[in-house]
Order: sequence, then C-alpha cells, then structure tokens
Amino acid sequence: MKRKPNIAVVGATGVVGSTFLKVLEERDFPFENIYMMASAKSAGKTVKFKGKDYVVEELTEHSFDKPIDIALFSAGGSTSAKFAPIAASKGVTVVDNSSQWRMYEDVPLVVPEVNPEDIAWNKGIIANPNCSTIQAMVALKPLQDKYGIKRVVYSTYQAVSGSGVKGINDLKNGLEGNNEDLQAYAHPIAGNCLPHIDVFLDNGYTKEEMKMINETHKILHDDDIKVTATTVRVPVFDSHSESINIELEKPFELEDVVECFRQFPGLIVQDDVENNVYPLALDAAGTDEVYVGRIRRDYSVENGINIWVVADNIRKGAATNAVQIAEKLLEQLPD
Ligand code: NAP
Repeated sequence: MKRKPNIAVVGATGVVGSTFLKVLEERDFPFENIYMMASAKSAGKTVKFKGKDYVVEELTEHSFDKPIDIALFSAGGSTSAKFAPIAASKGVTVVDNSSQWRMYEDVPLVVPEVNPEDIAWNKGIIANPNCSTIQAMVALKPLQDKYGIKRVVYSTYQAVSGSGVKGINDLKNGLEGNNEDLQAYAHPIAGNCLPHIDVFLDNGYTKEEMKMINETHKILHDDDIKVTATTVRVPVFDSHSESINIELEKPFELEDVVECFRQFPGLIVQDDVENNVYPLALDAAGTDEVYVGRIRRDYSVENGINIWVVADNIRKGAATNAVQIAEKLLEQLPD
C-alpha cells in the first residue's frame, strides 16, 4: 500500500480553503499530517478538520522546510507567484487555484475528467482552471471527442461566492438595503447584473473572459477552436450558470448528443422541459457534479447546439477539482 501523504492547505481560512477541508473530509482523503496555512492575520486561529482543531500557521519561506508532499493553494495570485515555486523547489507538488500559473507552458492545467494525462508532465505546479472554465470543459469534452468543435460562445451568470468573502458580503449587505460600503464590486450586486468580472483589458474583454478563451484552448489542446465570452456577475450566492453556444465540426442527432453527455463522467443531464426540469444554481450548490440541460439545436448555423451548464463554483469550480487532481497525484506518490 502507498504511504499516506503530508498535505498543506494554503489559504485554509478562505472561502475556497474551507471548502478544500470539507471536500478532503467527505472524500476521506488519506493523509499522515495536514498543515493549515494562511496570512499573518490568521496565524494562531484554529480551523476544524475531521473533528479536530488545527492551529493556522503563517505562510513563510520556511513553511515547506518540513516534509510535505502535496500543497493545495487558494490564497490569491501574488501568494502563489511567490510561494508555489518555493514549495516546488522543496519537492512539494502544488495544486494551485489562482490564475497565476495557468497559462505557463510548463504548468499543466487540469480538469480530471477531461485531461488527466497532463498531470504526468507537471514540474511541481499543477494549475486548477478558472471556475467558469472547469464546468464548461466537462460539457464540451464529450462533444469535442465525438464531433469536433469549431466555435464556442460563452455567456455566463456567475455567483458572488466566486469573489470570495467580499463578494458574499456585498450581496448580503445589498439584500439588507446597504449598497454603500461595497467590498468587491464597482456597483451594487443586489438586484443587478454586472458585465464585469475581474479587470478590463486593452482589447475590451475582461480578464475573466480571456481566461475562459485561453484556458479552453489549453485544456482541449486545440488552439483552432474559435471562442468568445461574455462573463456576468449575478445576485446568486453559489453556483455558476452558463449558456454555451457551440458549432460542431460534424453533423449530429440530438439524441446522440444527449447520450454522449449521459456517458461522460461527472456530467449529469437534467433536461425535461415539459416538467420544468433544467439545471438550477440552487440545486447544484453543495454538489460536486456538472449539470447540463436545455440541450437544443441552434438553427441559425450548420451543426449548432445550445446548452445550459451549471455547477457549484466553489466545489467543482475550485476545491473539488483540486482535490480530484490531488487524488490522481496519490497514485504517483513514491512508496
Ligand atoms: P478568500 O475567501 O478571500 O480567502 C483568501 C485566503 O487566502 C485566506 O485564507 C487568506 O488568509 C489567504 N491569504 C491571503 N493572503 C495571503 C498571504 N499573503 N499568505 C498566505 N495566505 C494568504 O478568497 P477565495 O475565494 O477563497 O479565493 C482564494 C483563491 O482561490 C484566489 O486566488 C481565487 O482567485 C481562487 N479561486 C476562487 C474561486 C471562487 O469561486 N471563490 C474559484 C476558483 C479559484 P487570511 O484569512 O489570513 O487573510
């Protein structure tokens, strides 16, 4: 039997970090020692894991001097930029949730149901894709395999938990009538839709939109797929919803598309419009799967299809996907 790994959770006090702990516990992830790390602000606080209190330690250059096999990072891009290479240089395999390393050529960007083979060539850092990209990939991969993909148009409806504690606070405060002290957004989110996620770039897109475009190419290993995106923050606490319009390379029968979705791991078809059944953010919240519905032909183009894809952005979009990557790493752990 393989030995149990020592693991570190970096950002253990955050929205994603605390979900890492939940998911590790639920999936009974094996470990010898677990270390909880965050900023100096949280050092000395405790977090609960498997019924036990763990003291949070400040992340420093020396945090990885002790033997650690796998570190799950969710502490922002600048923390990952500084500390992931330090961890990797000490033999730790980092699974990083920030956007910092995703587009580096020597860093695999992995959705375990889609491109698990890329884990093998990691050099110490594996990137978890953007939350909105992850759920889209699970729906697109079976289509790519069976029909080939020519073009994708993403329109997203993203939950405030994707902005961490500050985003959740803005919606909670707004629902109570306080839209004054905004922490995450440029405008009130309660009763609003903000076509603005992350910063605007010179090309007119937001960084979130470009993440979806670039990450789709990298994960599906096909730069020829034409991709565009509009990403929108909506007043929903948990789960991102996405309308995805796809032009396939080959003709298809709708029943065959539904069947190939049904066969794909981690993807659940919810498509019975006569009974008002389609994926919903409220239903997806707290689960690890990706849901697809409203599967219908796009009659405006040849081989076009529209789908509606929903997943819990903190679980499959962040923590669960990273833990699934870590589970694959267990197989490679030296005895
Ligand atoms: P969050 O709730 O604000 O939590 C941030 C965490 O990072 C906290 O534990 C914080 O510790 C820690 N941290 C901040 N600066 C640090 C430093 N200098 N050294 C060590 N730890 C530090 O944010 P979040 O939503 O969990 O997001 C965390 C990361 O995951 C971000 O990179 C985000 O882009 C990424 N991500 C988020 C989502 C999402 O849907 N929320 C999805 C995918 C990826 P303190 O408590 O000590 O401040």
